[in-house]
Formats: sequence, C-alpha cells, structure tokens
Amino acid sequence: MRTSTALTVLTALCTAILLASPAPAVAAAEPPDIPVAAVQAHLAQFQRIADTNGGNRAHGRPGYRASVDYVKSRLEAAGYRPVVQPFTYNGATGWNVIADWPGGDADNVLLVGGHLDSVTTAPGANDNGSGSAAVLEIALTVAKQNLTPRRHLRFAWWGAEELWLIGSDYYTRNLPSAERAKIKSYLNVDMIGSPNPAYFVLDGARYPAGSVALQRVLQEHFAKIGVPTENIDMGGRGDHASFTRYGIAVGGPFTGAEGRKTAAQARKWGGTAGEAFDRCYHRACDTTQNIHVTALDRNADAVAHAVWTLAGQAFALAS
Ligand SMILES: [Zn+2]
Repeated sequence: MRTSTALTVLTALCTAILLASPAPAVAAAEPPDIPVAAVQAHLAQFQRIADTNGGNRAHGRPGYRASVDYVKSRLEAAGYRPVVQPFTYNGATGWNVIADWPGGDADNVLLVGGHLDSVTTAPGANDNGSGSAAVLEIALTVAKQNLTPRRHLRFAWWGAEELWLIGSDYYTRNLPSAERAKIKSYLNVDMIGSPNPAYFVLDGARYPAGSVALQRVLQEHFAKIGVPTENIDMGGRGDHASFTRYGIAVGGPFTGAEGRKTAAQARKWGGTAGEAFDRCYHRACDTTQNIHVTALDRNADAVAHAVWTLAGQAFALAS
C-alpha cells in the first residue's frame, strides 16, 4: 500500500516534470536524411563551372575561383560568414573556404572538410565535387535546422589538394597552436560517389587517438542501413594528413579511386569485380555521369549522422 502510494505520487511527479520540461535540446535531434537531389544540385553547379572554364576546377585556373565563389555565396545566403583564406602556390593564388557555425564549445571544435579543387585533366565530379557538395549541403542543413550543438562546428573546403594537400597544410600550419589545439576531430570527405563503389572508412587504429570513435560513428550509420564497410589505411593520401601531423583525430568515408574491386567486394557491395572503383579517376570523364547516386546518398547521410552525433556529445578521447 505504502509502496503503491509512493509510486503513484512518484508517477504523478514524473508526469508533471515531463510536462513541464522544455522541448528536447536541438543538439539531440535525429541526424537528418540529406536529400541526395540537393547534393546533386551542387554537383551540377560544379560541373557547369568546369564546362564553362576549360573543363576543370584546378588550382590556378578560373574554374577553381568560380568554385570558391559558388560555395561562398551559398553559405552566405544561409547566414554563414565564410572566410576565404588566400595562399600562394606554384606562382598562383589559391583559396580555402572556412565557415564557422556560431555557438558550441569553442575549445572543442569538430571540423568537417573536403578539397574543392580538381586536377587540370578533369572536371572533378567525384574527385572531389562529391565531397564538396555533401559538406556544403550538410552545412546548409545545420543552418536550416538552426542547430545548437554542444561542440563548435566548422566547415572547410580546401584548395590545391591535388598538388599535395597545399591548402589544408597552409591552414593547419598557420593556425596559432592554441587554435589548432581546439580542433579535436577532423572528418575528411573526399570521393564519395565512385561509380563502382566501395564503402571504406578511415581505419581509426592507424591514426591519432580519438580516430576510432570517428570510424565507429560512421560505421554506425552504415550498419543501420545494412551496408557492410571495410576499414582503410589511406596513409597520408588526403587532407586528413594535414591534421594527423598535429595529433588531431581524423575519420572519413571513401568509395575508392583507381584501386580495383575484388570478387569478394563485388559480392557484398555489388558492382563489377576486377574493375576500378572509379575508372574516371583524374580523367576527363569524371563528370556528373561518373557519380553513383546511391553511394553519394548513403555517404552524405553517414557524414550527417557523424556530425549530428559527434556535435551533440562532449569530447571524449575514447578510442
Ligand atoms: Zn580527392
């Protein structure tokens, strides 16, 4: 009887508390499903830029500057104040685009980026219009939802990656060390729409402490949608290397480049065994026709899942 009365009172109290509670914090919101059509719309703009600028978006060429202007204008329209950071390489000016989402713990930055340049021989739809477009749409979704993350969110589009990580190297090298120390994790999004796709994620065990947590949060999404992944050691091949140099945890998805799909991989992912993941890697045929839309969709969603999950959590050096 006593217990029962106490329970009744407790239940009533809990109900009252629940009813009185404000809406759940936005940071705890479910990760959004990023509409692939929106990502493709940005990709189509990158393709148009290449088509009207000599077939590429390479460092030192007009197509690169046009790519910077496109990303900058879309961010500004969403309320960001992007910074265009110039650097000089090979006698030409290049730029990184950096956009901070206001709020969150400034001492605990989650940075999400990808390179915006192509090689001179390709329009760079998959490499890396795909990553650039996904990061852009994710940044725009953060703004649309007016997200209030616990961690500070920063987005970046790097210049001159194809000339060996020049833009991201310039960025990290020129950050005051106190600012660099605030970046607790970096997600690199480079090539996520390969036409004969793999579903790789950076192998956290090969990278600085904290990287395994990034690997796992990406895998969580793929597990949820029933897509098996493989861990991959990319070594220093990609902008993540500009961050691992300073001990920053890194992660990222990757659908493959010139490597060939094995028979075992074709069995689990579909596609063609014995063929390159991206037969148009660094070639003129890396157009919007070279994009595997399902792979692009799944990977954009995986990155969004990682951003929403990681941004809502206090940083823990769990690896
Ligand atoms: Zn790339």
